[in-house]
Amino acid sequence: MIAIIGGGVFGLSIGWYLARAGHPVTIFEQGQVGQGATWAAAGMLMPWKLSDSFSDDLFALQQDSYNRWPRFAQALGEVSNIPLHYQTDGRFFLALFDNAVKRLKRQYDFHHALGFPVEWLTGDEVRQREPNLGADVLAAIFTPMAHHIDNRQLVVALRDAFLQGGGQLREQTEVQELLIADKRVRGVQLPDEIFAAETIIVAAGAWSGHIARLPRSLRNMVRPRKGQTLILQMDPESPLIKQPVLGPVYLVPRPDGRLIVGTTVEREAGFDTQPTVGGVFHMLRKAQEMVPKIETLPIIEMGAGLRPTGAGRLPMLGPTGVKGLLIATGGHSYGILLSPAVAETMSHLALTGKVAPIIQPFMPPPEAKLS
Ligand SMILES: Cc1cc2nc3c(=O)[nH]c(=O)nc-3n(C[C@H](O)[C@H](O)[C@H](O)COP(=O)(O)OP(=O)(O)OC[C@H]3O[C@@H](n4cnc5c(N)ncnc54)[C@H](O)[C@@H]3O)c2cc1C
Repeated sequence: MIAIIGGGVFGLSIGWYLARAGHPVTIFEQGQVGQGATWAAAGMLMPWKLSDSFSDDLFALQQDSYNRWPRFAQALGEVSNIPLHYQTDGRFFLALFDNAVKRLKRQYDFHHALGFPVEWLTGDEVRQREPNLGADVLAAIFTPMAHHIDNRQLVVALRDAFLQGGGQLREQTEVQELLIADKRVRGVQLPDEIFAAETIIVAAGAWSGHIARLPRSLRNMVRPRKGQTLILQMDPESPLIKQPVLGPVYLVPRPDGRLIVGTTVEREAGFDTQPTVGGVFHMLRKAQEMVPKIETLPIIEMGAGLRPTGAGRLPMLGPTGVKGLLIATGGHSYGILLSPAVAETMSHLALTGKVAPIIQPFMPPPEAKLS
């Protein structure tokens, strides 16, 4: 039996791959699946390197996963029949001030040199394509490489595919402690019972470093990075913008007219997920500079999610020094993008014991002193 702690996009994706391979697997989720960082995300999918100092290993993992997305989405759509709204129509990156134009131009040159398909547009050229962008938009890059999906539909589809594959789901069930004896896992302690498992995958998002009895070297392996978001409602028949735009904030339209506005990146907010006046004000002010007409739209949701962020913003994926204990966390702001690669490599690891080369740079520290 394999037990997965956490029903976010990492836990659900790995669980789906294990279940469809015919292996007994149970996901434990302290609340409802997908309501953590995965719910708050914008669902943007693009390998992203802003400078030479960005980790080559992470960029390679992002590219690997990005290339897997079309087949992942298709397979999931076929099993679950849930529309993911996987869209491949590209995205605009906007500059609103002179110094932002210079930064955007550097980004354009860098991505052009990497061989990315990028197109430079003046403010007027981008307004011809998205007429509701404001006069403050001075320049833009368009790239057709930027894809996106509806992350909330993704949760519903993964849950469905996991259950159809024969996986067991225990929602409202917090894992309180790992059970470890003789340097190997034996199971997990639940509120009212012990659940025996020979493999445990910790995929508990920002909470991953807090599971009791984790090896000392893994405690606090990730920290929460709060990100606030808003959802506005556009008329789906005549949306204010048709494609995602990224400037000082991002605006991501959904086919049903919802417009996702985000985000903040807050280091010191702990596990708090309350939207704040400062966060909401910042997002609305910047969004209105980009698309002045948003001021007419109703706000239908305000919220926040906790990105699981590891050292150097790198993920943590692989085996630990405790036999049978595996880790899959640290998706930071690219966890949705990474989920097909995480599903493939982590399920393969759980079934064969082999670490795929693409995740080797992200293996947890080998020493495993128990707490
Ligand atoms: C505002 C925002 C925007 C983002 N936008 C994007 C984007 O556009 N593209 C992208 O690729 N990524 C994006 N991300 C990042 C992405 O959402 C995350 O990296 C990803 O969702 C992390 O998934 P996860 O499964 O590791 O964690 P989570 O989704 O947080 O899931 C972890 C789950 O574990 C459960 N859990 C914790 N402890 C226990 C326990 N002891 N027992 C049982 N269950 C437990 C939690 O309840 C939770 O449901 C964004 C994140 C935020 C916050």
